Amino acid sequence: MSADDELSLLVIVIDTNPIWWGKKALGEAEQFTLSRCIDAAMVLGNSHLFMNRTNRLAVIASHTQESRFLYPGKGWAFADLFGDGGSSMESNCSGSKDGKYELLTAINDAIAEEIKDLMTKTDMRGQQTETLLAGSLAKALCSNVDINKMSKEVKANQEMKSRILVIKAAEDSALQYMNFMNVIFAAQKQSILIDACVLDSDSGLLQQACDITGGIYLKVPHMPSLLQYLLWVFLPDQEQRSQLVLPPPIHVDYRAACFCHRNLIEIGYVCSVCLSIFCNFSPICSTCETAFKISLPPVMKAKKKKLKLAV
Ligand SMILES: [Zn+2]
Ligand SMILES: [Zn+2]
Repeated sequence: MSADDELSLLVIVIDTNPIWWGKKALGEAEQFTLSRCIDAAMVLGNSHLFMNRTNRLAVIASHTQESRFLYPGKGWAFADLFGDGGSSMESNCSGSKDGKYELLTAINDAIAEEIKDLMTKTDMRGQQTETLLAGSLAKALCSNVDINKMSKEVKANQEMKSRILVIKAAEDSALQYMNFMNVIFAAQKQSILIDACVLDSDSGLLQQACDITGGIYLKVPHMPSLLQYLLWVFLPDQEQRSQLVLPPPIHVDYRAACFCHRNLIEIGYVCSVCLSIFCNFSPICSTCETAFKISLPPVMKAKKKKLKLAV
């Protein structure tokens, strides 16, 4: 199969948690803001599109109240994504003033517009403080299906390779453990790679995601140099990576969250019917309502002995 028949889709998921980024902007002497992070992601996206004309890009913002496509957004027709359009691209595109490739200008403008809209519409009085990462990953998987379907309509028998890069800022949410694991296994089944670029605290969930799907997990040692790491580690695709000396695999935190309290546990009780995990023993599984037969050997034996004595 020639390279032209193969589409390569990169979905970038950016954690835009306003609380985390707000703290970052206030706290550190060496400031690294959300807009700098998005700039770095845009450079990565542009570089990916430049690598091959069959490369495709999608960018998703993972927020506290919603997950949103920054690109391709509402105003984009799928024909634009496949380079066969022109008519609808002109409406999106104000034209290039500096000689930059118009499509990239249009994409970057669209991303900046959407992120501005997302941030101004955020209700800061909301109770939700955690990033909806599991939902964003599910959205990324769906975009893969959508774009695959569209590309098949544009050109028959085109193959597509996809990968998802998560740029993660805020802490993990154990509440999303179940949804997150389901998304990871769905990605593994579709052979979609999940890469993770973690800005601050390590993420056990993403470590597992990368390990299961064959992606790279990297905790950025120095946040302001994010762009270098993105271009060095995450721009090359799976085939090119084998020729590079990339950061070594990390030790994966494989602890699971119990279904009762969402605590991470090393040893726990597993329901033999539905495989739910619990930190405490309970005679009835709260997920599938199976009642476990509990044998209580000391009590039974004592009764039998008494009977024998009576005889
Ligand atoms: Zn528990
Ligand atoms: Zn069960």
